[in-house]
Amino acid sequence: MRAAIFHGPGTPLTIEDRPLPVPGAGEVLVKVCRCGVCGSDVSMTGDAPFTFAPGPIGHEFAGEIVEAGSGVAALKAGRRVACLASIPCGACAGCRNGNPVFCLAPRRGIGGGFGEYVTIPAAGALALPESLSFGDGALIEPMACGLHALRLARLDPGAHVLVLGAGSMALSIIYWARRFRAGRIVVASRSAHRREIAMAMGADAFHSFADDDPADLASLLGDGPDLVAECVGKAGMLGEAVRYVRPQGTVVSLGMCQKTEPVMPAMLTFKEVRLLFPVAYSVEEFAETARAFDADGVHPEMMVSDVIGLDALPRVLEDMRNGTHAGLKVHVDPGRR
Ligand SMILES: [Zn+2]
Ligand SMILES: [Zn+2]
Repeated sequence: MRAAIFHGPGTPLTIEDRPLPVPGAGEVLVKVCRCGVCGSDVSMTGDAPFTFAPGPIGHEFAGEIVEAGSGVAALKAGRRVACLASIPCGACAGCRNGNPVFCLAPRRGIGGGFGEYVTIPAAGALALPESLSFGDGALIEPMACGLHALRLARLDPGAHVLVLGAGSMALSIIYWARRFRAGRIVVASRSAHRREIAMAMGADAFHSFADDDPADLASLLGDGPDLVAECVGKAGMLGEAVRYVRPQGTVVSLGMCQKTEPVMPAMLTFKEVRLLFPVAYSVEEFAETARAFDADGVHPEMMVSDVIGLDALPRVLEDMRNGTHAGLKVHVDPGRR
């Protein structure tokens, strides 16, 4: 089988032939049908302080069970599943707090979605509701991050939200803010072409830094947003978010900027800003995301701008790194030639 392998920062991914993995006890073999390219796939394979360990990568995936290992009763061959990025051992202190990203057991997950087949512990596979496509299924993972962020922020009904950026994390915040019955949701982005999708996900207004009058944004914000979600991830954006938020408001940092960001503590103090840095989601939030799409009839696959095969992935990742890729969410179909 073929898979994309990361060898180290500064080296483009290579597509390699690997032996077909065999599911061990408690594991399932999944044929990957879709795997999303995450912002972290770009930043954590580049010249940054935090990078992935060398090996297979790709953590936003959905597919079909081909074979179940011994002791797996609930998931049979043919079952369509969406997969968790971090797989809980279920027994450690980190797992008991609900978010498997803090599991203390030797790391499992975060990798393998950019390959034709992958084995994962059965606990990492969630049966996909009938109404969701594999494209929708591969978006459960990134969309669950927005749910977790707004839970952590304790977003109140009626709260006004400013979203900085219009990438997939921003769209996740818009979707959940709307579902949490937020008040006004304003999106501010450089990417004017994402206006339509932002509105489709539930935004009330879209301000383009590139095309619109700067004064427009002030008029859209009224007394200042109760919550600002920083979803751009460039140096300087956290300071911008603090500047926009109302006194005693909340800033949620989701851009995972890997540059040092100077923030003046006094400025946060004068506004008594709450600054949050959410990561990932709980297993329950992952399942809740799938249920929400199913119940709402929402097909997040509308965010997918490109579906590519494995051979195109290294080039696309480099284009995204250089800022020359215009698409929104890129999905890899590893079986596609
Ligand atoms: Zn991701
Ligand atoms: Zn654990």
